[in-house]
Amino acid sequence: MNTSDNPIGERSQVQSPDRGDLQPSADETARISGKAGPLCAGLYLVATPIGNLRDITLRALDILQSADVIYAEDTRQTQKLLANFSISAALTPYHDHNTAKRIPIIMEQLSSGKSVALVSDAGTPLISDPGFKLARAAAQNGHDIIPVPGASAAIAGLLTSALPSDRFFFAGFLPPKSAARKTALGEIAAVPGTLIFFEGGSRIDKTLADMLDVLGDRPAALARELTKKFEQTRRGTLSNLLEGVKSDPPRGEIVLIIGGPDEEHKWDEAQIDAALILAIDELGVKRAAAQVAQQSGHKKRDIYARALALKNPAPKDNLE
Ligand code: SAM
Repeated sequence: MNTSDNPIGERSQVQSPDRGDLQPSADETARISGKAGPLCAGLYLVATPIGNLRDITLRALDILQSADVIYAEDTRQTQKLLANFSISAALTPYHDHNTAKRIPIIMEQLSSGKSVALVSDAGTPLISDPGFKLARAAAQNGHDIIPVPGASAAIAGLLTSALPSDRFFFAGFLPPKSAARKTALGEIAAVPGTLIFFEGGSRIDKTLADMLDVLGDRPAALARELTKKFEQTRRGTLSNLLEGVKSDPPRGEIVLIIGGPDEEHKWDEAQIDAALILAIDELGVKRAAAQVAQQSGHKKRDIYARALALKNPAPKDNLE
C-alpha cells in the first residue's frame, strides 16, 4: 500500500474490503504475534523490561524470535537481553544519530514485505527513546505499525505513586538548565491531571526545587529503580521530597510523579497580584497574564482581566 492509497497510514486490516467487522482474523492475529510462521510485514514496536527481566511479554519474545530484522538502540544491551531468553538474532543499531540514514533503508525493507522490529535499551520504544521518526515515516508510506506493549517506567511510576491516575500528562525529561526547566514547568503547571517526569539522580534536588518554586507544594512521589532489587517509592509533597533527597540522595533511575493543580494549590489573590506586578514590567500585560495563568492554576481570561486592572487602575472619584 502506498501513501496515496492511505495517506494517514491506517492498518490494512481496518480497510480490508472483504471483512465487515474491522477485526483481524484469527490467522492474521497469529501472524502479527509471531505464533504462526513468518510475521506479517510491518514495523513492530516492541517493549522490553525496565529492570526485572521477567517483565518481557511472551509476545515480545515470539516477535523478536521471528522478525526478519531487529533494530536496537544499543545492540550489545539487546544482545544480552536476548541471550537470557536463548534467542539469537542479528541486530542493527537504530539510534538518534543514524535515523536519517536508516529510515530509507527500513522503508525499503518494509516495502519488500519484511517484518521489522524496533527495541530500545529498556522499556517502550518512542517513550523518551528513539522511534518516533521511524513510526511517522512508516505511517506516511502506508506501512503497518504493530505495537507490542509491555513495561514503561512512566506507567510503572504512576502506579506506585498512588496519585490520581484518571488523567495524566507524561512530560518526559525536563531541560538540564534551571531557567529552561522553570519555563517548561510553567507551560504545564495548569494541566488538569497528574504529571509524570523522567529524571536521573544527579540533579534531582535542583529539579525538585524548581518544581516546588513553579508548581507549589503539591503531592508528589519519587519512584526509583522500578522492578529492580533496590526499587523504592517515596511519597509526600514536593517540599518533603526535596528535604528527603538532600539528606538521603536517591541513586539510579527515577520517575517523578506530581499531583495536578487542584483548588487547594491554586494561587490566592495576593500571590497573583505580586507575580503580575513583577511580570507586567518585564513582559507586558498579555505575556505576563499568560505566564501567571499557567503558574497559578487560574483561567487566562481571569488573570488577563486582573493584569489590565493592575496596569490601568480605575480613576479615583473626584467628588470629594
Ligand atoms: N522508554 C523507556 C520506558 O518506556 O520506560 C524510558 C527511556 S528513558 C531514556 C530512561 C528514563 O526512564 C530514566 O532516566 C528514568 O527516568 C526512567 N526509567 C527507566 N527505567 C527506570 C526504572 N527501572 N525505574 C525508574 N525509572 C526508570
